[in-house]
Amino acid sequence: MPQFILKTRQNMSAGRAPEISALPALFMRRKSIPAYSEKGLGPRLPDTKKAVLDLLEGEELSGFSGVGIAMPGIVDPEKKRVLGLYKKYEDSKEMDLEGWCREVFGLPAFLEMDSKLALAGELHMGCGRGYEDAVMMILGTGVGTAVSLGGKILRSRNYTAGALASHIIVNLRGAACTCPNRGCLEAEASGWALPGLLRRHPGFSESGISGEEKLDFRSLQKWVLRKDPVAEEVLLRCVEVWRAGILNLIHAYDPQLVILSGAVMNFQGLFQKLTEGIERCIWDCCGPVVIKEAEYPEDSVLFGLYYLVRNGGVI
Ligand SMILES: [Zn+2]
Repeated sequence: MPQFILKTRQNMSAGRAPEISALPALFMRRKSIPAYSEKGLGPRLPDTKKAVLDLLEGEELSGFSGVGIAMPGIVDPEKKRVLGLYKKYEDSKEMDLEGWCREVFGLPAFLEMDSKLALAGELHMGCGRGYEDAVMMILGTGVGTAVSLGGKILRSRNYTAGALASHIIVNLRGAACTCPNRGCLEAEASGWALPGLLRRHPGFSESGISGEEKLDFRSLQKWVLRKDPVAEEVLLRCVEVWRAGILNLIHAYDPQLVILSGAVMNFQGLFQKLTEGIERCIWDCCGPVVIKEAEYPEDSVLFGLYYLVRNGGVI
């Protein structure tokens, strides 16, 4: 689901990031609704409007300075249009979300890609404070990436630079991706790719994990802890792919800091598996690279949205 944030004028006038201890107060009111992303964003707008108005409990919208919208695809933040995404909310490319926000809430809208917002959120309010050159890899249903150079989120002519690193091809004869290619990092290891990885394993039908109702990283962890060889091999394959992704990002963008985030990072011991000995694979001219887990994996996009609206659409 795209994530929305409404920001008060009071916060806007503060002029600087609030203290970390004050941050949870920003999100005192929150609500999640089902995504149904394959059905398009248009059919979700009435429920989105209702959820926001319910949250406000009658509070006047005139007290807010804007609406921030995080999209799971490439966004032009100046024209406030969605440029590219596959399989999720594909209809949003044709939509005027700013017009919708003006009409429904009477407020300006600010749009950006979710992974870029997550990196901005961590840089300004989370584990990336004090760093300017950073990359982020978010492991969830898909894989998100973003890059910051000189303290600014990297921005190229079509807004794709740094944001499509999960579609760098890591296996020339690999699995079909949601994009037009095969063997993308995301197609080789991600939440949506996991069921296919397991089912294609020759030992799958003999493995206990084949009896699981849902083939996700939670069930994979359960069978890895039981030392199931199929589960262990598939996990190892995912770790190899993600380590390659981290190294690709480091060698492409020369960061001081790599931030790892996303629900899959809850997998027991994953951070260690992804980082152990990786310094030996980094070109020595890249100097030391720090690798951290996101401080607010659930909320870094919201922090980024706060920053986006406060800065009038620039991160
Ligand atoms: Zn792809």
